Parts: sequence; structure tokens; C-alpha cells
Amino acid sequence: MTAVSYDDFEDLELGEVEAMPANPKPQVASEGDDDEASDDFSELDDLLADAMQERRETLSVAETRKRAKAGFGLSAEDQDRVRRWELAREWLPVANTAVFRRYVCACGFHSTVFEGLFLEQRHRHSSHANRWTAAEASQANLPNDTAIRVKSIPMCQRCAESKGFSLKTDIIWEA
Ligand SMILES: [Zn+2]
Repeated sequence: MTAVSYDDFEDLELGEVEAMPANPKPQVASEGDDDEASDDFSELDDLLADAMQERRETLSVAETRKRAKAGFGLSAEDQDRVRRWELAREWLPVANTAVFRRYVCACGFHSTVFEGLFLEQRHRHSSHANRWTAAEASQANLPNDTAIRVKSIPMCQRCAESKGFSLKTDIIWEA
């Protein structure tokens, strides 16, 4: 792009500067950020560089996906790159989701155990496409949701005795 440096404006007489409108570069004003007029051009350079970098990453990921579709296995590095790109560009974070499993017994008793923490994401181009990926920690800027997976069971700690099984431990299995 055309290089117009900040120095061009510093050469102006002080009086002229004061007489000028707040933003002396109307062609840049439409880009937003009127507050920092002197930085507009370097910011535009940065934006352009970012956009080009983003474009390169997108093309590279598209190429990698095409290879995967054609049946070529992806290296762990490629998989990681595609996943990072998807996280950054294609899937938007929606909520922290704590997933619980609720065991509902035939006797009416139920117990609930924590299964894991997930990040709910929504596809950038489809508001109906959501997915949940395992997360190590919740993100403070997102709302917290709770999801419960329900499973029916025929016997629980409350009714085991009545069915002839004591909860007195005979064997412990480490899961
Ligand atoms: Zn029960």
C-alpha cells in the first residue's frame, strides 16, 4: 500500500494543525477509530498483514482438509493446526458446560455424578450447528451451563439390599 508516514503531518505548522479537522485523513476515517488518527496508517498496515496471514492460514488449512478428504492421513502436527484454526476462525465459544450423568433407578432413587467439563461452540456460519469439546478449565468470560445425561438402572445403593445384594464391599475394582 502507499506509504504515508506520520512524519508528513509533523512537518505542518502548528497553526495549520490546530486549524485542521480532528481527523486530517478522511479516507481513513471510514475504517473507524477516529481517536488515534496518527496511528491509522500503521494500524492499517497491521490489519492488512493480519488479513494476509489469516488468508494464508485459511488456504493452508483448506489444502490440508482436502488431503484428509482424499484419504491421506494427517500428521499430528497437521491435525493440531487444523484444530487450532477451527477454534480460532470457524467455531465460536458459547458456554462452559459441566456434564453430569444421572442414574435413575427403577425404585425411584437417583444419583448424579460429574462426568467432565466441555466447551460449547457454535459454527460461525450456521447458528444451528453446535458442538461440545472436552475442556480442561472453564473460561471466565463465558456463561456456565449444566447438561445431564440420564441413564436408567435396575438397582441402586438404596434398593440393592432388598434385591439380595449387600453394599458391604466384597471386591473393589479401580476403574
Ligand atoms: Zn434403586
